[in-house]
Amino acid sequence: MTDSFLHKGLRKKLVDGLRAKGIDNEAILAAIEKIPRHFFVESSFARHAYEDKPFSIGAGQTISQPFTVAFQTQLLDLKKFDKVLEIGTGSGYQTAVLIELGATVYTIERQRELFAKCQETLTQMNYLPYFFLGDGYEGKPVFAPFDKILVTAGAKTVPPKLLKQLAVGGKMVIPVGDSEIQEMLVVDKLSDEKYKTAKFGRFSFVPMLQGIEG
Ligand code: SAH
Repeated sequence: MTDSFLHKGLRKKLVDGLRAKGIDNEAILAAIEKIPRHFFVESSFARHAYEDKPFSIGAGQTISQPFTVAFQTQLLDLKKFDKVLEIGTGSGYQTAVLIELGATVYTIERQRELFAKCQETLTQMNYLPYFFLGDGYEGKPVFAPFDKILVTAGAKTVPPKLLKQLAVGGKMVIPVGDSEIQEMLVVDKLSDEKYKTAKFGRFSFVPMLQGIEG
């Protein structure tokens, strides 16, 4: 796939749209303007890659809407060199945004087919996170603690193992709800026992499922 002037123009428009919807973190907007999102979707969808919409990436999963990617990333309040655990690699687009912002990313995907595909896409683009096929509910205790944890699938509750793997002073962004609609939560870990949770609106993610599939 190539990245043409047309694609670049569409990205600029997408960024203007995100700005109008309240995204004001310039580093995030610059990352979105830079990363060819159409590389992360089937070529037949390339034309639609710069609409602010989620769509299918196969295996019953979706690439998150650009606004949602920007919003979650903004809530994560990334600092350069932050060690980030991402749950739900999916297409790998959100992973690329995190890496572009200077994070070291550990990313977990449970769906075998997507796990293979996202590695191919990201590696070709020279975005190099640590990839894991696994169940995000388990996190990655060997590499803990993480400065930030980003969950991109809807969880029924905040997984206790992930809270444990968060560094003191760290932050987790996670959509939580027991239906198709979830509430975006930001959990700050104040000490080993103390957490502060804040809510940031309603979103609709595919469910966070248990175990490995495919
Ligand atoms: N950030 C992705 C969003 C993908 S949708 C993107 O921008 O493309 C959510 C992803 O989470 C799906 O790929 C799904 O397979 C994955 N997922 C769901 N439950 C999971 C779990 N327990 N562990 C790891 N990945 C999970």
